[in-house]
Amino acid sequence: PMASSEKEAALSAIPSDSPTIFDKIINKEIPSNVVYEDDKVLAFRDIAPQAPVHVVLIPKLKDGLTGLSKLTIADLNIRWVSTDSPIKVRQAVIDSPTRGQSVYHLHIHILGGRQMNWPPA
Ligand code: IMP
Repeated sequence: PMASSEKEAALSAIPSDSPTIFDKIINKEIPSNVVYEDDKVLAFRDIAPQAPVHVVLIPKLKDGLTGLSKLTIADLNIRWVSTDSPIKVRQAVIDSPTRGQSVYHLHIHILGGRQMNWPPA
């Protein structure tokens, strides 16, 4: 279950395109535990992990897109796939109402290391 402080943060966050804490992480203005970085994306450990492995994957380019709901295949390639990568995204299922976000910078949570519940609890 979601920590109540995280739930409160998500409920009180107002969707906006202003800089967030993730911009400071990208610019190395605040420290983070980086697990992967290339020209397009940064992956770092979540400060309040919900599983033994909890990584947040963000595009460095924010540019008006704060949530997943308006993401297109073109966006995926522009924002997430390294310039050096021979692989490009050609198909994706994007099915996400953008709700309950606490940080309005596009991101994906990667969780592992324990059994998850379905539906997510
Ligand atoms: P959201 O609720 O999907 O918007 O997730 C935002 C996530 O960012 C939460 O899981 C937070 O714990 C995480 N987070 C917020 N600030 C920091 C930070 O400074 N470093 C690492 N993770 C953070």
